Amino acid sequence: MTTLRIIEPVPRVPPLTDPVVLPRGSVEPAATARHRAALPPRHLADLDLAGRRALGVSLGEPAMRATQLSHHYFGRLVRDPAVMTDIPLAARERLVDGMMPALLTAVRELECDDGATRKSLWRLHDGSLVESVLMAYPDRVTACVSSQAGCGMACPFCATGQAGLTRNLSTAEIVDQVVWLAGVATRGLGPELPARLSHVVFMGMGEPLANYARVVEAVRRLIAPPPEGLGLSRRHVTISTVGLVPAMRRLAEEDLATTLALSLHAPDDDLRDELVPVNQRWKVAEVLDAAFDYAARTGRRISVEYAMIKNVNDQPWRADLLGRLLAGRLAHVNLIPLNPTPGSRWDASPKPVEREFVRRLRSAGVPTTVRDTRGREIDGACGQLAASTEGR
Ligand code: SF4
Repeated sequence: MTTLRIIEPVPRVPPLTDPVVLPRGSVEPAATARHRAALPPRHLADLDLAGRRALGVSLGEPAMRATQLSHHYFGRLVRDPAVMTDIPLAARERLVDGMMPALLTAVRELECDDGATRKSLWRLHDGSLVESVLMAYPDRVTACVSSQAGCGMACPFCATGQAGLTRNLSTAEIVDQVVWLAGVATRGLGPELPARLSHVVFMGMGEPLANYARVVEAVRRLIAPPPEGLGLSRRHVTISTVGLVPAMRRLAEEDLATTLALSLHAPDDDLRDELVPVNQRWKVAEVLDAAFDYAARTGRRISVEYAMIKNVNDQPWRADLLGRLLAGRLAHVNLIPLNPTPGSRWDASPKPVEREFVRRLRSAGVPTTVRDTRGREIDGACGQLAASTEGR
C-alpha cells in the first residue's frame, strides 16, 4: 500500500530556463550564463579531500577539521553540527556553513512495498525538482539517483524527456542524494532487509554522460573510502546512457570500471531514431560498438536496457534481431515493463508478448532478465513524480 507524506506545501515551480536541447555531437549541454548562475553553493562533496582541507584552512580552521567533517558526512552520515562533538563548538557552525550548505530540501516522500521502496522529490536551491528512489531487497539496497534536473534527450515515452532540461546537477547535488538515502537505509527499511546502502544506479532524471565531468567526480566520491568518500564498491555503481558515443569511449578510459547500462530500446535504426532521438547522431551499430569496447576494456558485462512498449518495439522479429546483435558478447538484456506516463500514447507490452521476447533472446544465448516494477504505484518511472508535482 502506498503511503504519501507531504512534507511541505508544494507551490508551482516555474522553469528556470527554457528547455535546452543538447546540440548534436556535443557531450555536455552548452552552459549558458543563466545555467552557471543556477549552480549551487560549493559543498565538501564537490572537492576531494585535499581540496576540502585547503578550503578548511581558508575558513580559518586547521586542515584536520575538514577531515573530521568529512568523516561525519561520509563515514557517519551525520550533518547535524550538534553531534559533531569532536570538533570545537565555535568551529562547527563555521565549518558546516562553509562546507556543508543544504543542497536538497525534501518536498515529498512516498513509500510502498511496506517501506522497502521509497521515492524522494527534492527541491534544489534554485527551485529545480529532482527525484531519487531507494529500493531494498534481501541481498542489497539500491539508490537510483538523478544527474540532471530534467533531461534534454527528448525520449518521447519518458516523463522527464517531455519536460526538457533545466540544468546539470553539481557533483555534490548528485552525491548528496546518495548520502541522504544511505542515511535512510541505515535507519532500517524493514525486517530482514539490509540496513546499509550497497548499490547506486544513475537511472533517475537526466542523461548522466551529458553531465560527464560532474558524474565522474560523483562516482569517485562514492567509491573512495571514508573520509574521502562513501566507500561503495565500484562494481556496485551503474552509469546509464542513451548512447553518447564519445563520452562512452572517454568513460572506458577512466579508472572507474563501473557497470555501463545502455538504454537501447530498439535494435534497428528506423525505430530507435524515433524512440531515442540521439540515435539520429550515433546509430545502433556505433553505439553497440562503443559498449562492447567498454566491456572488453573494463571486463564488466554491459546491461542493455530495453523498455517493452506495446506494438512498438516488442515484435518477435525485433527480439531475434537483438539476439543476433548481442549473441556471444559480454552483455545481458534487462527488459523494462513500461510504466506509462499519464495521457501518454505508449503502453506496456502484454505479459505473453514479454515472455516470448525473453524466450527468443535466451534461445539466442543472450542472458535476459525482466526488471521488477518497484515503485509503479508511486509514479516510479523517472520524472513522473516531478511531473505530477508541477502544478499542484
Ligand atoms: S529516458 Fe532517460 S535519457 Fe531519455 S529523456 Fe528520459 S531521462 Fe532522458
